[in-house]
Amino acid sequence: MRHLDYVAAADANAALQRLSAKPQEAAPIGGGTNLLDLMKLHVQNPAVLVDINGLPLSQVREVEGGGLRIGALVRNSDLAQHPLVRERYPVLSEALLAGASPQLRNMATLGGNILQRTRCAYFRDVSQACNKREPGSGCAALDGYNRMHAVLGVSDKCIAANPSDMNVALAALDASVHVQGLKGERSVPFIDFHLVPGTHPDKESVLQPEELITGVTLPASGFAARSRYVKVRDRAAYAFALTSAAVALELEGTTVKAARVALGGVGTKPWRSKEAEAALVGKPADEVHFKAAAEAALKGAKPRTHNAFKVDLARRTLVRALSLTAGIA
Ligand code: SF4
Repeated sequence: MRHLDYVAAADANAALQRLSAKPQEAAPIGGGTNLLDLMKLHVQNPAVLVDINGLPLSQVREVEGGGLRIGALVRNSDLAQHPLVRERYPVLSEALLAGASPQLRNMATLGGNILQRTRCAYFRDVSQACNKREPGSGCAALDGYNRMHAVLGVSDKCIAANPSDMNVALAALDASVHVQGLKGERSVPFIDFHLVPGTHPDKESVLQPEELITGVTLPASGFAARSRYVKVRDRAAYAFALTSAAVALELEGTTVKAARVALGGVGTKPWRSKEAEAALVGKPADEVHFKAAAEAALKGAKPRTHNAFKVDLARRTLVRALSLTAGIA
């Protein structure tokens, strides 16, 4: 049996002190829905769990100008049902409700969901080669069964898809992530927070081992209230995305004034498509231009043996999300 220490942190400073003392061996735990799963599989083996549930990070509050600041410990269920989220950022509410099961959403936190790790079966099986879990060991998915894997942002070291629905919505909403370390706080644009695998798939985000996510800010915008999330999966509930799309549109009459587009299930990180957005702005909100945006979004796709179907499925998912958002579906 492995020895495991547990400490309940009284405040952020205490948590950061414990994390900094053994950055490679300590792990913060909030809802634990992903971490405990991976510990049971021996994929993550922390020597000490730092419980951060006592930190005052469970609030959703308005910020100047009409945006929202969401604490890192806000549970996914609470966030999905929050009246201001439903009213101002419906895409976020829909994405959260599309993820996991009610029981998991009741436990899972905003911060943990941002850091949710891939569902690549080879990553979760310690007998398999995996550069993400064990740098330099290889990637069993490249020539293995890769139906669920990514087609955008891939490298010859890793093709794992980011599994979070919520992350796709946050990428579309121009969110910022707030991070605290012992030396102070910093904010990172959400679309820069996660990293593509490149030659170091083990490095998944810009978060340092001795830092904590404290929250997310959603800015006010002209497009967020008109936003939708569409997810395609193998069964109707409790399944990860084959493809998904988070879309927000600001319309002037029938012309697109501003657009935000992000894709899920196809990217190694939550995949914001500025190419699709550029193809939409100034154009009529119709099927012809939605299809052109979908072409632009998937232009750089690099499918493998079993996931080529995702390219066209992602295009169709995006057209569907745009049509629903524009009210023409
Ligand atoms: Fe590991 Fe990434 Fe390859 Fe999956 S795709 S086996 S996570 S390196």
